[in-house]
Amino acid sequence: MILQGRLLINPHQTPQPGWVRIEDRQIAELGQGNPPETPVAGDADSLICPGFIDAHIHLPQIDAVGCDPPCGDGLLEWLHRIVFPAEMRWQDADVAQEQAGIAYRRMLRAGTLGYAGFLTSHFHSVTSVIRAGHRLPLRAIAGQVLMDRGAAEPLLHHRLARLANSKRGRIAMSVNPRFAVGCSDELLSLAKVRASDGAFVQTHLAESRRECELVAELFPDDPHYTAVYDRHGLLTDRTLLAHCVHLADDEWRLIAERRSVVVHCPTANTFLQSGLFNLDAAREHGVRLALGSDVAAGPDLAMPRVARAMIEVAKMQVMTRKAAAKPHVPTPAEAWDIITRGNADALSWSDSGRLEVGAAADLLVLRVGFDLDDYLIGRLIYTWRDEYITHRVVDGRLIEIERV
Ligand SMILES: [Zn+2]
Repeated sequence: MILQGRLLINPHQTPQPGWVRIEDRQIAELGQGNPPETPVAGDADSLICPGFIDAHIHLPQIDAVGCDPPCGDGLLEWLHRIVFPAEMRWQDADVAQEQAGIAYRRMLRAGTLGYAGFLTSHFHSVTSVIRAGHRLPLRAIAGQVLMDRGAAEPLLHHRLARLANSKRGRIAMSVNPRFAVGCSDELLSLAKVRASDGAFVQTHLAESRRECELVAELFPDDPHYTAVYDRHGLLTDRTLLAHCVHLADDEWRLIAERRSVVVHCPTANTFLQSGLFNLDAAREHGVRLALGSDVAAGPDLAMPRVARAMIEVAKMQVMTRKAAAKPHVPTPAEAWDIITRGNADALSWSDSGRLEVGAAADLLVLRVGFDLDDYLIGRLIYTWRDEYITHRVVDGRLIEIERV
């Protein structure tokens, strides 16, 4: 199968006319100029880029976007009023199945062809996502939520699917303690046992101030929030830590030392008024960084809009912080690089998120109505619409949204 279009190989360079040959679910060949045979999709005016990767999303919250409780206390109240009722609906296996399918279709529409995400605490949430992945093979790291306190009984940990680090199609199972507020020491120890075979660990860290205060009360012997996870051996280079808005210097240092990944979720932090992420601290400490939509706290499924929010939050830091040095504002090309290659690397997918021979064929063909000039990536990020995508290739197959 051949795709034709300008190849967005490196967002820092102007894409050149060319074509992609796909064989055996991989990119077999990249060529310049006109294609050697009639393309299946795209033309000389198209753009070809890797599919987007979302490093943090909650599938059961797909229909809870925009539910903003009035005068809320931020994260904790929102969890109780919006998220837990939404996740409770997954108690019904049919609902779980249906919503997993909806989440998959919406990601496909938005051009997200790989993700790391949370399910619910229900045992069958795992089978639901495996079925969705069977129908639409998005590349994924997904896990059943672990929590044993602070929510209604049906959402607490009962039975952990024995699937950690097993792979079902293109889905690798992860271990997902929700956050320290919702997990006892016993459960965090169990999480470590379950992750000891190399499974990814996904959790949340220091999203809101109130959450950090609660963790200090619940774990009085730990010097800080990050230390709670570290004491249980949960910080490794296969750990994804969402948010990290309120960290002290020694916490940044510890995360950098462990090579864990910080997943910045700018749209969610704004929605819940959690705070402005300190990108400079992450950069200064050399922390591995990824970007996540955090749907439903984040209202945008489309990763180019999350990339835009990352730039905007950094610009807000410039306007509001009285730092001696001017905070770094990522360029559109830097942000675009994170939602493709960068997030793939964070998820240890060295063969995803890039236009490269041998890489997985998860690709988008775009048709945009503006010049492909030096501002191309900025134009894409700031004007992004799903309608720019004319074709989606998932695992080497051209997928029509209507047929999924
Ligand atoms: Zn989250």
